[in-house]
Formats: sequence, C-alpha cells, structure tokens
Amino acid sequence: VERTLSIIKPDATKRNLTGRINAKFEDAGLRIVAQKRIQLTPEQAGVFYAVHKERPFYGELCEFMASGPVVVQVLEGEGAVARNREVMGATNPKDAAPGTIRAEFAESVGENSVHGSDAPETAAVEIAYFFSGLELV
Ligand code: ATP
Ligand code: MG
Repeated sequence: VERTLSIIKPDATKRNLTGRINAKFEDAGLRIVAQKRIQLTPEQAGVFYAVHKERPFYGELCEFMASGPVVVQVLEGEGAVARNREVMGATNPKDAAPGTIRAEFAESVGENSVHGSDAPETAAVEIAYFFSGLELV
C-alpha cells in the first residue's frame, strides 16, 4: 500500500484543528500509521522545503513552519499521495474545492494548514526525514 508524508502546519495546530483535519483523512480512506507533534527550527524547515529555495516566499515559508508546533504524520492507503492531495485541496484556499481541508480551514496561500508529498518518490524522502524505521510499522 502507498504511503505519503503529511504535515499539519502551525496555523492549524494553533487553532486546535488536528482532530478535525485527521477526520478528513480518515473519511477519505487514509490511515494515520505514524504521527508526532514537533517544533521545527527555520533551518530544519528550510531543508525540508529546499526545492523552493529560489522562490520569493521561501524565507517567509521557513519562518512560518517554525512559528509553532507541527504534527508530522504518515498516511497510508491506495493511491495515498494523490488521495491526500485531493483531500487537501488547492494550495491557495480561494481555489480549493468545497469540502477540502484548505477550503474549510486555511487562512491564506502561505498559511494553508497542511502539507502533502507531491509524488511517491518525494514521499519516501520526506517520510525518512521525520521518521525512523522503528517508528513505522
Ligand atoms: P505543500 O508542498 O505544502 O503540500 P503545495 O504542494 O500545494 O503545498 P507548493 O507549491 O509546493 O504547494 O508550495 C509549498 C508551500 O509554500 C505552500 O503550501 C505554501 O505554504 C507556500 N506557498 C506557495 N506559494 C506561495 C505564495 N505565492 N506565497 C506564499 N506562500 C506560498
Ligand atoms: Mg508541494
């Protein structure tokens, strides 16, 4: 079965939305197989989002991801990467389909409540960044 890396971002943990977001994942057939609440440094966020290094919003994104606790999690299910991105909705909440996490909860294109891996290959790298083999069963 496919797995993907999900992050519930600081804007959502601040507003105590972890449970409501997790319910969306579970309702969509995604199983939460690993999960922990951590505080990132801007440097750790920068490594995670290194693909965006040249984008104008990179600095802002790293500061935001370190502005409060995040919940990192591994979601499992058939086509988990694509299914998760469906449930998340478009990056900009204004473009997100009704019922998606970003449509319901996101504050802005930057503070958009959740991250999800964009391909199975990226998912493997991102899962390994946060979880050891012993934490994954
Ligand atoms: P994520 O990678 O977090 O799952 P995504 O794949 O939908 O989101 P990306 O294009 O990979 O979107 O951008 C990564 C993150 O950078 C976005 O989720 C958002 O938090 C931030 N971001 C993207 N575009 C902008 C922007 N124009 N202004 C501010 N922040 C942005
Ligand atoms: Mg992305």
